[in-house]
Amino acid sequence: MNCTFCKIIEGKIPSTSVFQDELGFAFADINPKAPVHVLVVPREHIGSLAAADKDNRALLGHLLWAAAEIARKKGLANGYRIVVNTGQDGGQTMDHLHLHLLGGRMMTWPPG
Ligand code: 5GP
Ligand code: ZN
Repeated sequence: MNCTFCKIIEGKIPSTSVFQDELGFAFADINPKAPVHVLVVPREHIGSLAAADKDNRALLGHLLWAAAEIARKKGLANGYRIVVNTGQDGGQTMDHLHLHLLGGRMMTWPPG
């Protein structure tokens, strides 16, 4: 499968890894939108949140926990934002499920 994030997980495309375990992998976004901008992805290829099924429930929870763990390690005690862009209207551009962890600045609401 020609998936950039799968290649990053496999180490075929370089990235700055910040977390990895048996289920997930996290790395710095190449085009950061905040002082801390990390992408948290499942090792398993899942196209988007919309493509996740009932069997993926524990995995989804694990990724959310991993994001919180990374935020703690990054010292984001003032808060942060988790974003999961999903599908065309959601602004998803990379077709491998990913959580954005954004922090280190004040976020605005609603997002654009
Ligand atoms: P989306 O728009 O799908 O929610 O987010 C995709 C994110 O992946 C974007 O923030 C973009 O900067 C990031 N990205 C795209 N290609 C690469 C890459 O090759 N390496 C890294 N580290 N990030 C990437
Ligand atoms: Zn993939």
